[in-house]
Amino acid sequence: VFDVLIVGGGPAGAAAAIYTARKGIRTGVIADRFGGQVLDTLSIENFISVKETDGQKFAVALEQHVKEYDVDIMNTQRASKIVPGKIKEVHTESGAVLRAKSVIISTGARWREINVPGEKEYRNHGVAYCPHCDGPLFKGKRVAVIGGGNSGVEAAIDLAGIVEHVTLIEFGAELRADAVLQRKLATLRNVKVIKSAQTSEIHGDGKKVNGLSYTDRESGQSHRVDLEGVFVQIGLVPNTEWLKGTIELSKHGEIEVDAKGQTSETGIFAAGDVTTVPYKQIVIAVGEGAKAALGSFDYLIRSSAD
Ligand code: FAD
Repeated sequence: VFDVLIVGGGPAGAAAAIYTARKGIRTGVIADRFGGQVLDTLSIENFISVKETDGQKFAVALEQHVKEYDVDIMNTQRASKIVPGKIKEVHTESGAVLRAKSVIISTGARWREINVPGEKEYRNHGVAYCPHCDGPLFKGKRVAVIGGGNSGVEAAIDLAGIVEHVTLIEFGAELRADAVLQRKLATLRNVKVIKSAQTSEIHGDGKKVNGLSYTDRESGQSHRVDLEGVFVQIGLVPNTEWLKGTIELSKHGEIEVDAKGQTSETGIFAAGDVTTVPYKQIVIAVGEGAKAALGSFDYLIRSSAD
């Protein structure tokens, strides 16, 4: 039986593992892909104290740091179910059952993709998902934001201060963002909003993005926009499908946590992009992972006194 079993090996899970292992308690990490989303990241320039690194290097550094401690890492294993109780069970897709006094869920999230030609080919070469991360790479360039919900309009406002021009593309006939964001957007002179538009292809020269095509859903006509970057902002999906019915989730599927990272189930904690904590960033996931680890340690010392 583990004292703490961490499900997910991204920045949040790695930080949680280091914090619990340093308390001298038996720690395990089960991860589908140790490293998490940073494995898909090209350059990282906003992890404080590391001026610049790339995703692969960062993921290796995470793993090396965790391996400095006595942590049982079970990589390429997916959790399929959690059973709460004094001793919690985590079932894996491969049929194993892991037992732990406390669990930290840090299974992260994934960006919803538009699934058009060019998106995968030019990912990290002009196709981006995170304006806080990649916005500055497009300084002085032309970009499109796909999606007119809150995240898309926020991204357009944010990017308008950095890039030369933003084209915001919305599938529906109207933007879906809050009125206050739409009003702000309307004041920006370097933003053009195109509604009722379905993105059909992201173009490039074989190395990087140079344009985008969309179909006007009213006229059926196809148009091309020349640009250097495309930010896809149609939603971040938390990896919580396996938790439905056991742990309380928000309407967006994120795990509800309190100030110590505790979920609706006693002794089950959560951290990082999988939770309701806003602003999905590495530095935030790491901090939340540390917090959930301390929360679970606190829980263990209290429950063992019963
Ligand atoms: P994740 O990194 O998503 O890790 C989740 C972990 O859980 C993985 O190990 C995964 O394999 C595992 N997992 C998922 N489901 C299961 C399951 N059922 N069973 C077992 N394991 C499971 N942030 C920045 O701060 N700066 C940047 O420059 C930056 N650039 C980015 C670029 C891209 C392309 C992307 C996609 C994201 C970027 N981000 C950036 C965001 C950042 O990567 C995330 O905020 C951060 O990785 C969240 O960490 P996490 O540990 O919560 O989740």
